[in-house]
Amino acid sequence: MNWLTNFIRPKIRSMVAGQKEVPDNLWQKCPSCDGMLFHRELKENSNVCYHCGHHLKIYVTERLDILFDDGYDLLKSPAVKQDPLKFKDRKRYADRLKEAKAKTEREDAIVLAQGTIGGFPVIVAAFDFEFMGGSMGAAVGEGILRAAEVAVEEQAALIVVPASGGARMQEGAISLMQMPRTVIARQLMKEARLPYFVLLTDPTTGGVSASFAMLGDVHIAEPGAMIGFAGKRVIEETIRQQLPDGFQTAEYLVEHGMVDMVVARKDQRATFAKLLGFLMPQSAALSVQHGGKSKRVKTGASGKALESAHKASGNIARYVADIPADLTAANSDKKQKRAKR
Ligand SMILES: [Zn+2]
Repeated sequence: MNWLTNFIRPKIRSMVAGQKEVPDNLWQKCPSCDGMLFHRELKENSNVCYHCGHHLKIYVTERLDILFDDGYDLLKSPAVKQDPLKFKDRKRYADRLKEAKAKTEREDAIVLAQGTIGGFPVIVAAFDFEFMGGSMGAAVGEGILRAAEVAVEEQAALIVVPASGGARMQEGAISLMQMPRTVIARQLMKEARLPYFVLLTDPTTGGVSASFAMLGDVHIAEPGAMIGFAGKRVIEETIRQQLPDGFQTAEYLVEHGMVDMVVARKDQRATFAKLLGFLMPQSAALSVQHGGKSKRVKTGASGKALESAHKASGNIARYVADIPADLTAANSDKKQKRAKR
């Protein structure tokens, strides 16, 4: 129409279009309390609302920063065949993949990282929700399996952090096969007698919650996280009953025995450090100190962390009261089985 609409507007659009989704302005509204949140303060608070404590979504890299003691190394995930079914809905799956890769600069929806927590060697497999809703296809399944293999090799603990809508529809039956495959990963950890934790974040649903995500030695969930298989409305329409308030939230699942504890983001590292102190062989923390196998651990990583690990391990008696009863029961079961052998 004129110089303003033909030239200036497209130029502004092109400047705005390439940016990531979240920081499109300096303020955002808390979805829970409607309070205004300034981006810098929100970031300093690990994306937790500083008015009401609501846990907003967080980028996967920031999550890794929060979990690990001091830095981490990214591990390469094995390559898989892309778009095996040549699937097409409104758009070709190959194009969707291309877009997601460009947007996230990642090969798929899983990120593997290695580092220490409380001085103990840990592998983390975290989902990137920005990549096609964190959906689980062959690449994600392969990634989780790889994470478990590395954990066994390095005698490290494994923490999986799902943030996922479930299986990736575009891979059909292949995505469903990732459910038993990820259970194999869990089994590898069990056979090696290494701890396997799940940190359930918002959302954990579908085929992800129906496989590895509900098989942890310890289930920790973020406050308010939606965790379930099918959505609330779908269930209500199927069973023709109204579901209770708070159904499928982390807090509800603690009450009903599916989750061991709800832990705020700021306390997660300390909680994992404490649990690792209980469940990992004590020599594991020391091998980090002496450089041993874990030469990748950056210098200075273990000073404070080791101190806290040692404190935790020295004070086991004091903390035993904090362990849920079913966990101690599970441990004595294991001991009995070992004794039988
Ligand atoms: Zn809030």
